[in-house]
Amino acid sequence: MDNHIKIRVKNLTFSYHKIPIFENISLDFEAHAITAITGPSGRGKSTFLSILNRLWESQPFSRMQGKVWIHLDGHWIDIYGRTLTKPDLRRKVGMVFQTPNPLPMSIYKNMAFPLKLIGMTDKSLVADKITAALRQAFLWDEVKDRLNNSAFSLSGGQQQRLCIARALVSRPEILLLDEPTSSLDAGAASVIEDLLVNLKKQCTLIVVSHYLDQVSRIADNALKLESCGFTQV
Ligand code: ADP
Ligand code: MG
Repeated sequence: MDNHIKIRVKNLTFSYHKIPIFENISLDFEAHAITAITGPSGRGKSTFLSILNRLWESQPFSRMQGKVWIHLDGHWIDIYGRTLTKPDLRRKVGMVFQTPNPLPMSIYKNMAFPLKLIGMTDKSLVADKITAALRQAFLWDEVKDRLNNSAFSLSGGQQQRLCIARALVSRPEILLLDEPTSSLDAGAASVIEDLLVNLKKQCTLIVVSHYLDQVSRIADNALKLESCGFTQV
């Protein structure tokens, strides 16, 4: 398999309640690039992202066939196989949702939360990782003097950057973003576009977006989801 590919989807078929969402789809995602997914509401964009991090599995009457591999440390890993646990997968494949979803706790504790889950207790290491991720999310300068304030004291755009930073603190190799700027004004969206482009150095990004101008500004590749399949835009 090719090294410039990060995600390979093969013969994917998916349904909810036996209603098909995807039928025998195969496609690759380029490493260290932003791939945008556009398309009308209800076609399956969010479902597709949920297949890449196994989030759909909690949905009743949902069924998937096919394979998804990700390229990790020089090996192709079947994400539905036994090599990766689901928590390990979610650390490698971070997710950011449309509406910012900080936890009801301080900015610092939001950032520390994923590290606590993996048992990282070295306080200076935790602090270093938090600082680095907040910088990558273009948020450090705005929050460094108020890390103990509630995450809800931040603006919508800052909350979304906090959620991106929280995903980055686990050093994911893939970042999935589902309409990450839909709830934000143009200025806040623009900062997020810039930081996503900057993240290509370390991550492979898939961004669902309704905004074609945004897609043309940030995406290296763009796909449109039509009925049961993707077309190149
Ligand atoms: P998009 O993100 O493109 O708007 P979704 O992936 O959210 O689309 O949904 C695709 C289709 O699947 C829609 O018709 C939606 O109503 C349906 N759907 C989504 N989630 C579920 C679920 N948990 N159970 C049943 N149907 C669902
Ligand atoms: Mg959606």
